[in-house]
Amino acid sequence: MKCPNCSANLKRVEVKVQGASIKAISYQCQNCDYFEFEPVSSKKVIEELRETPLKIKQKIIKLSKNRLGMYFSNHVTRSLDLRKGEDLYVSVPDKNHIILELEVKTHSQKRANI
Ligand SMILES: [Zn+2]
Repeated sequence: MKCPNCSANLKRVEVKVQGASIKAISYQCQNCDYFEFEPVSSKKVIEELRETPLKIKQKIIKLSKNRLGMYFSNHVTRSLDLRKGEDLYVSVPDKNHIILELEVKTHSQKRANI
């Protein structure tokens, strides 16, 4: 496969997606910034993420000074043992996902996908 921008060879790279066991295949240009996901594998990853066991619908709420926020439901706080003042890392892998990652508390890493 060739890059549509600069015709250099595209490199096939497997991308590990948080919360999915299947890897998404991407094609990346070594020469410019061109990057694309192979549609079949990325669709499988999205389907797998949709089947995440804990999925709760929540409203975004308005905080002071027009900032937005959300509450964690009791199910989430209990199952992840969340405490006030803990650090969370927020990442946005695409337009439909926000990933919240907790600091490592024990040997295993705790994650919440929303
Ligand atoms: Zn290129």
